[in-house]
Amino acid sequence: MTINRHCPTCRSRQDFRKLNDDEKAWVRAEGSRSYVDNLWRCTAVGCLTYFRIGRINDRGLLPEKFKKEPPADAERP
Ligand SMILES: [Zn+2]
Repeated sequence: MTINRHCPTCRSRQDFRKLNDDEKAWVRAEGSRSYVDNLWRCTAVGCLTYFRIGRINDRGLLPEKFKKEPPADAERP
């Protein structure tokens, strides 16, 4: 299930999905939140933005390791 919202990082509308277990574990470990079941992340390639549902200003960035792999023919850094 995804929701369509404006992503402030992509500066366009994107699909967001709920954080998976690894991502939730990271947010918990990072320490600023204890309740993570209402967090959604942008599914755009290379975007790490997550936010609390209903509170687009309550957001953060996931670490690089959660970056979605770009297509195989994309340029790599
Ligand atoms: Zn985004």
